[in-house]
Amino acid sequence: MKNKKELNTWLNAFNLSRPLVIAGPCSAETEAQVLSTARALKNTDTSILRAGIWKPRTRPGNFEGVGIIGLEWLLKAKKETGLLTATEVANPTHVDLALKHEVDVLWLGARTTVSPFVVQEIAEALKGTDKIVLVKNPINPDLALWLGAVERLYKQNISKLGAIHRGFSTYQKITYRNNPEWQIPIDLQTEVPDLPLLLDPSHIAGNRSLIFDLCQTALDLNYDGFMIETHPNPDEAWSDAKQQITPSHLSEITKNLSIKREIS
Ligand code: PEP
Ligand code: MN
Repeated sequence: MKNKKELNTWLNAFNLSRPLVIAGPCSAETEAQVLSTARALKNTDTSILRAGIWKPRTRPGNFEGVGIIGLEWLLKAKKETGLLTATEVANPTHVDLALKHEVDVLWLGARTTVSPFVVQEIAEALKGTDKIVLVKNPINPDLALWLGAVERLYKQNISKLGAIHRGFSTYQKITYRNNPEWQIPIDLQTEVPDLPLLLDPSHIAGNRSLIFDLCQTALDLNYDGFMIETHPNPDEAWSDAKQQITPSHLSEITKNLSIKREIS
């Protein structure tokens, strides 16, 4: 990839004296839940409100997202709080609907990054966009697939790109829900040094007690920010309940992190 420098310019639009924080529920559940999360996050270091509208569940039978109505709630939250909004897109229809509802940040989930055909279709649907597009690592520990997805987007003249490290599937039972395999994102940084890199500690941890330490490790490795699942009442969440935290817990975490560097 040439002219990689342009890849990190979008970060300058945020307050860079601290890491970029994207926060919000795993899933949009109700209008009241989205709005109350947004209002509470407004008083934290959060710049971007996330919420999953279409949920790619590994096995059927779980909550699969509220669909389009959730995009209306995100737009309402954005108008009221001024937070930017972010959601996962997994096909070109999702892209069109998200763009129609003024979503600012679109991300490709771990189950999408594994599929070059789908990534290509999404990249073409987003061709030339000035929206921010973030690419989660594929669920399997494969650096080339992750890089390949970033390259497919870059080739469609999408320059506000970033990567999200959310850990990798493992068949063994380990402390984490998804193994961080820190070396893979380090290698990504070597290949594409100017690509902003965020940590999603929620999906690595699978458990809220591990989130702080994961965030500190990421800052020590010069990550640019975080995507953290945040819910007004985490234990009642319709998806990923164990790993979600309240907005006040999020504030406590960001307040106690030690920032090793000023991002420039
Ligand atoms: C999510 O962010 O809620 C999600 C489904 O993440 P991932 O694609 O990392 O599993
Ligand atoms: Mn989730």
